[in-house]
Amino acid sequence: MTEQTKVVVIGGGIVGCSVLYGLAKRGVTDAVLLERRQLTSGSTWHAAGNTTYFGPYPAMTRLFTGSIKTYLEAEALSGQSVGFHQTGSLRLATSAAELEAYRGLEALYDELGIPYHVISPEEVAAIYPLLNLEGVHGAAHTPTDGHVDASGATYALAKAARQLGATIRTNSPVTGIERAGAGWRVHLEGGTIEAEHVVLAASFWARELAQQIGLDLPLYALQHHEVITGPVKDLQGLTEELPTVRDPRAPANIRQERDGFLCGVYEQNPKFWATEGIPKDFTEELLPPELDRLMPEMERVIERLPCFGDAGIKTVNNGPICYTPDGLPLLGPVAGHDGMWLASGFTVGIGTGGGAGDYLAHWIATGAPEFELSMTSPARFPKTMPRDEVLNRIKSAYEAGYSLK
Ligand SMILES: Cc1cc2nc3c(=O)[nH]c(=O)nc-3n(C[C@H](O)[C@H](O)[C@H](O)COP(=O)(O)OP(=O)(O)OC[C@H]3O[C@@H](n4cnc5c(N)ncnc54)[C@H](O)[C@@H]3O)c2cc1C
Repeated sequence: MTEQTKVVVIGGGIVGCSVLYGLAKRGVTDAVLLERRQLTSGSTWHAAGNTTYFGPYPAMTRLFTGSIKTYLEAEALSGQSVGFHQTGSLRLATSAAELEAYRGLEALYDELGIPYHVISPEEVAAIYPLLNLEGVHGAAHTPTDGHVDASGATYALAKAARQLGATIRTNSPVTGIERAGAGWRVHLEGGTIEAEHVVLAASFWARELAQQIGLDLPLYALQHHEVITGPVKDLQGLTEELPTVRDPRAPANIRQERDGFLCGVYEQNPKFWATEGIPKDFTEELLPPELDRLMPEMERVIERLPCFGDAGIKTVNNGPICYTPDGLPLLGPVAGHDGMWLASGFTVGIGTGGGAGDYLAHWIATGAPEFELSMTSPARFPKTMPRDEVLNRIKSAYEAGYSLK
């Protein structure tokens, strides 16, 4: 049986659901999202949910700032909580050059109407007395961001999209994509859908799906760890949740998780996962944790936040995370393939997914992007790149952590 629709979105993570919601919000309800298993089954379910407003690239900052806005909008419409904790964030400057670069962004945040302050080490200490600020020159403080429940946000987007008239089909793996006249034919196990537009929001699975139409997408999955501690004595009795801290020296992000900490670590010499193809039997399981590999970074985390070291480690999550050679997503139309759109390769898909979905939906619905964002254009990479070069550049992008390129 062949069905017809205007847009097919492939992938039910936070990005795909955000695109669908953005389309439905603009009246494009003739849109179907197809998800292989359940919503959030890819990287989204195990993400820490950090959603900062800080972006080192001015052009990307609108995706960061647009994300929380989109999640809260979907929450209001659907009644599904996105679990937003407005803790604010501190991006530490571990050199004078970093502090200067943070200052250079002040005008942008003024223009966007987002509170953003570059503060002294003394002011950092007043906000976060538990930090050891040796070698810290100051920080960028974004007091109105924080973290969301990544699954809650995805379900809120999905529910709001459905309420507006869009369709979601779970347990519906796409088995093939091909050209059909001016549009596209998408094959499922039990049928076919013809669509004017197809959005590939399938993260690291997008590579193999795109190969079917002759595209060689430069994206692969790396292993990424987050470490969750047990209760921390120094957190007892705090009346307000601490801000999220991003430390370029570790490099790591640390936020409060109930009465303990949750720390995402960018280790040097990271390991890839499934470079020969995503295993067909992969569902949504985590990968075996390899805490030993994180020791140098964890030592720097403990130097920065000594009470982290007093807490026992409760959980270590190692999950696949999608990366492109410059660490930025592939977001936009595919040149020479009218009606084919990419929304894949997100490394901070919770932080940027809401804004990115809105950006792409606007483009599909109106025929033009809302603002200039060529740094995420799929056309910024050559049509094919040697695999070693892709892998080496991905490794460097990951290792760079929070350094400013
Ligand atoms: C440990 C860890 C912590 C993280 N913490 C954060 C954080 O704090 N903040 C942040 O911004 N990011 C974080 N991330 C990254 C974040 O998880 C991802 O950037 C984000 O989830 C990507 O969303 P997505 O929708 O692009 O991909 P996914 O969530 O992977 O969704 C892709 C979907 O496509 C589906 N799919 C694949 N193939 C097919 C097919 N053939 N047919 C139909 N459907 C298909 C999959 O089942 C999947 O549901 C973290 C990652 C890890 C590993």
